[in-house]
Amino acid sequence: MSHELLNADVLFLQRLLRAEGLYAGALDGLWGPRTERAARQFEARALQLRATLGEFDTRSEHAILGLALRAQEHARRFLRRVLDGGIQARIISGTRSYAQQNALFRQGRYGNPGPVVTRARGGHSAHNFGIAWDIGIFTLRGGYSRRARDYVAAARLGRAPGIEWGGDWTTFPDPPHYQLTTGLDLAAVRARFELGQRYA
Ligand SMILES: [Zn+2]
Repeated sequence: MSHELLNADVLFLQRLLRAEGLYAGALDGLWGPRTERAARQFEARALQLRATLGEFDTRSEHAILGLALRAQEHARRFLRRVLDGGIQARIISGTRSYAQQNALFRQGRYGNPGPVVTRARGGHSAHNFGIAWDIGIFTLRGGYSRRARDYVAAARLGRAPGIEWGGDWTTFPDPPHYQLTTGLDLAAVRARFELGQRYA
């Protein structure tokens, strides 16, 4: 679990832990021994997945370790396939709390600086439930590639059953984006997440 999420938003963490079946306490936003115990269990499972499936660069690790556990497993297998195929990809973004998503939404809007980078407010992106990740592909010069064909090549290697690729979306394609297929629409995922019910 990434430290910002742990510290900044205890309710968010409790929902995530409860949906994982690790936390049976109240969704009260208060850090107590049960939250602590569940967070430790979550971390132990995440590290076990890493030990089993392989460790990546620091940035990717930071993003992966904050995902829901099933997403962590898929993301690790995904990144391994892409790297083994010779594409220098990293997972540069994973879970965002509602507050982080809202901050991102404000960027480029309401007179705030920067480009508009998301169409989703807090609670309206798969990133808000720990089931989505974005990749960056490095060029030889060290920057991120913006070439669509690089992201298509990564998708060719990385796609697998259980993963949805943002590049397949017809209305607003998002080639760096991947998410778990849950069999639920986003509103249903959100409702389950907020109740601490399993969705991933
Ligand atoms: Zn994304």
